[in-house]
Amino acid sequence: MKCPRCGDEHISTIAKSPVAGAWEVYECDRCYYSWRSTETPHVDDVFKLTPEKIANLQVIPAVPPLED
Ligand SMILES: [Zn+2]
Repeated sequence: MKCPRCGDEHISTIAKSPVAGAWEVYECDRCYYSWRSTETPHVDDVFKLTPEKIANLQVIPAVPPLED
């Protein structure tokens, strides 16, 4: 299984349906994209991530300087 957004193959199962086997929720270990097994996730090319893009992501938005 591959992440629909970044193509990474390290996918974790983070939740399962109360009724066994109905659905599971998967999450990408690299970019944290998550989806349910009953979906067919589609990520437009513009939103896809490469290792280079992930490395350059600004995780915490910069705080603008205080105004006087
Ligand atoms: Zn991913």
